[in-house]
Amino acid sequence: MDFNYLADLLFPGVKETPEELEARFPTRELPEGAKVTRFAPSPTGFVHFGGLFPVTVGERLAHQSGGVFYLRIEDTDDKREVEGAAEALIKVLAHYGINFDEGAILDETGKISDKGIYGPYKQSLRGPLYHVYAKKLVSEGKAYPCFTTEEELEALNALDKKSEIKNKDWHEDAEKQKEEKLKARNFTIEEVEENLKKGNPFVLRLLSDGDPEKRTPFTDLIKGKLDIPENDEDFVLLKSDGIPTYHFAHAVDDHLMGTTHVIRGEEWLPSLAKHIMLFRYLGFRMPKYLHIAQLMRLDENGAKKKLSKRDMGANMDDYKRIGYAPDCVMEYVMTLLNSNFEEWHAANADKSYLDFPFSIKKMSTSGCLFDFNKLNDVSKNVICHWDAEKVYSFLLEWAKEYDPDFARELESDKDKAIAVLSIGRGGKKPRKDFAVWSEVKGYMGFIYDRFFEIIDDYPENFDKKDIKAALCAFIDSYDASDDMNTWFDKIKAISANLGYAADMKEYKANPDAFKGNVADVSMFIRVAVTGKMNAPDLYTVMQILGKEKVAERIDAMVAKL
Ligand code: GLU
Repeated sequence: MDFNYLADLLFPGVKETPEELEARFPTRELPEGAKVTRFAPSPTGFVHFGGLFPVTVGERLAHQSGGVFYLRIEDTDDKREVEGAAEALIKVLAHYGINFDEGAILDETGKISDKGIYGPYKQSLRGPLYHVYAKKLVSEGKAYPCFTTEEELEALNALDKKSEIKNKDWHEDAEKQKEEKLKARNFTIEEVEENLKKGNPFVLRLLSDGDPEKRTPFTDLIKGKLDIPENDEDFVLLKSDGIPTYHFAHAVDDHLMGTTHVIRGEEWLPSLAKHIMLFRYLGFRMPKYLHIAQLMRLDENGAKKKLSKRDMGANMDDYKRIGYAPDCVMEYVMTLLNSNFEEWHAANADKSYLDFPFSIKKMSTSGCLFDFNKLNDVSKNVICHWDAEKVYSFLLEWAKEYDPDFARELESDKDKAIAVLSIGRGGKKPRKDFAVWSEVKGYMGFIYDRFFEIIDDYPENFDKKDIKAALCAFIDSYDASDDMNTWFDKIKAISANLGYAADMKEYKANPDAFKGNVADVSMFIRVAVTGKMNAPDLYTVMQILGKEKVAERIDAMVAKL
């Protein structure tokens, strides 16, 4: 068969040659060892937590090596595409500090545009490029058309015609598949001409020369040495609307864009044989691959399950709403990605995760386990090292969007908010009171009258008369200018007067000799002033509230008792 003639028949409009394309997409000039990586999402909805994995690995590998990290939008499946998803995705990633050197970006009007010379970076705009290579493969007898005949079209008419034709693929059954393959390969130029004349659509298939009995050794940088059975499937390169399949677009794009390392989910491993064949057919050098294990979670019975779309923790929008600081989420991602990250971080508490020497070798080959408790621990650990100003600004930004009432209070008296947020900060063992911004109101909201309420009741075992007496004695003696020791000595004296141990050692030695101890009396006061058993340092809290407010709250409690 005259393959050049066939190629012209199928792609009459394609005039550019692969050589011309290669010149348009020159080899990148980068320092030795620089990695070129990409994130290549399909904009099919919200951003999944699991998506942060390939993103972070790609970003780190590129930027640690002085390379390039770019964003390519894989929007070739319009059935799955969600309007505005790509734009939202770029914004979400930017929120986590993930910025791309090149690729699809948002312009000032909020629309996607290109940055860089290897674009377009949206696959749906790269049609002509794929067709150049499709034509080349046909002209070399390595790909062939597979038409949908009139009868088939009619039969499909009853079904969802468009999608059926577009993705027309082989039968599941292996024997049937062989038969279909042989039949499809066996065509004449006349048949092609006739089909084209009738306007019958075709998909373009790769003519596989593979033998599944044979295996190709392959090294994945995460999974290690693999033995891949050769591909023997004449898989689809172009769908009947001329749009490429993932396989074909992957080969053409990552070649032209100069990707050195493909970082993607392990669900693509079974397709690797196809890609090996495709790169060989096209004469492209293969990039290196990192197949990342899927993110797992524990179900109610303690069994490992994939963290699926609907699971709590999957949707990145939730993190923003709940109020996780982006840095905390990224630190957690790092903890999951590199087994030695936590140890490094403990030794370098003041450093950012961006200073950590990320290593492919330390990545887990099996699925990481997603765990909210761990995320919260990491988060508390990060935030406790921030100064109050920083906490305040992140908190305020969150509150403006998700709790405007709280935001108004925070803004109305910044010094007051900063004073509360400063409690327990800065020392060797900083307090770890909250992991997310939505917890902060519960922690410090009592400072504001509009959020102040008595949440905790006094335990039953204390005599109300004692509580009342302690509160009255306290407020009678309270002097805001007392230093902390004097303030506490007064509480001790009140305790002793009421038959509560002023000294904890004494109390422990003989608890039956007392009604309680000074910690109990402090609690009486704490609940009256903050509404809670657990609150930040009471002396400082009173300093912030001022004598009048303290007296008002204590009086109210006395009246209530
Ligand atoms: N669009 C593919 C996906 O979302 C990209 C895989 C890849 O990175 O090559 O799974």
